[in-house]
Amino acid sequence: MILETERLTLRPWKDEDAEGLFEYAKDPDVGPAAGWMPHKNVKESLSVIRNVLDGPQCYAICLKGTDAPIGSIELILNGGYAETDAYDACELGYWIAKPFWGQGLVPEAARELMRYGFNELGMSVIWCAAFGGNTKSMRVQEKIGFTFVKKVEGLKIEGIGKTVDLYVTKISKEEFMGTICGADCTNCGMKAACKGCIKTCGKPFGGTCVAAEYIKAGGKKAYEEFKEMLRQEINELLKSMDIPEALALYELAGSYVNLGYELPSGETVKFLNDKNIYLGCQIEVPDWELCCGVVADASFILVVRYGINGSDPELICYKKR
Ligand code: SF4
Repeated sequence: MILETERLTLRPWKDEDAEGLFEYAKDPDVGPAAGWMPHKNVKESLSVIRNVLDGPQCYAICLKGTDAPIGSIELILNGGYAETDAYDACELGYWIAKPFWGQGLVPEAARELMRYGFNELGMSVIWCAAFGGNTKSMRVQEKIGFTFVKKVEGLKIEGIGKTVDLYVTKISKEEFMGTICGADCTNCGMKAACKGCIKTCGKPFGGTCVAAEYIKAGGKKAYEEFKEMLRQEINELLKSMDIPEALALYELAGSYVNLGYELPSGETVKFLNDKNIYLGCQIEVPDWELCCGVVADASFILVVRYGINGSDPELICYKKR
C-alpha cells in the first residue's frame, strides 16, 4: 500500500533503504526517544528493515518526488499494550530524522495513516505513547487530536536499558472524524451547509439525527442493534409488497429524501423534515423502471417509488411504528 499526502509519500520499507536508514538512525537523538538504540552499521539497519520495519502497516516516510526515507510511521496491529490487543484497536508509532524536525511532517503523515486506519482497516481507536520528557512527541500527539489517558510509571524499556515514565494517549474514530457516529463527512456534498455533528450535539442541520439520538442514549452498540431491528421490520414490509430486501440502511440527510408528493387536488405534500437525518436506502426492483426507496426512523417507515433524481415520486406505503 502507498499513501500520499500533500508533501509526503508513505510506502513499505525495502532492503535498498538500508544505507539511507543508517545515516539517520545512527543519530543518538532519534532512536532512544522512541525506545531503540542508535544503529551501529548498515548491516544492522538492514536487519531492522527486515525484522522490525516489516509490519503490514509500517511505512517509510519519503518526501514527495524522492524515494529516500526520512522517517518511519506505523500502525502496530494487535501489539504494544493490552489495550491494542483487539481487532479494532492499534498503536501509532513514528520517528523522523533530525534535519526534518519542526516542519509538521509527522502530523501530516499521521493524519493520513489514521484516516486509512479508521476508514479502511476498521479501527475504532488508535493508541499512542511518549516517554516522559519527550515533549516533541507529546506535542505531535496533541496536535493530531490524541488525549491523555494514563501515566505508566517506572517502565523498563529493554531496547535502551532504561526505566522511563510512559504517557499513554488515544483517539477514537468519532473524535478523529468529528462526528458522533464516526461517519467520514469529508466528501459529503452538504459539507458547506453542515454545522458539524459534535459541535451541534448531533443536530448539524438543526433537526434531529436518528443515529446521534440512539448513540447518545445507549452507545454505538444500541444504535447498531436498533438499525438491524429496523432493517428486519422494513424487510417484512417489503416482502409483503414483493420488493427485494434492504441489505443495509444508511444515514440520509432529510433534504435529500424529503420528496414532494402530488395530491389529486394538485397540491404537493411532504412528510419529512429537511433538517433531520433519517435511515434508508435505495432498492433495485426487477421489472420496475422506477427506483424504490425506503426512509425510516424510530417512529415510521416510508416506502416510495420515484424516477431519476427523485422525480415523480409516488408514495407506496407509510407505516407508523
Ligand atoms: S449521521 Fe448523525 S451522528 Fe452521524 S455524522 Fe451525521 S449527524 Fe452526526
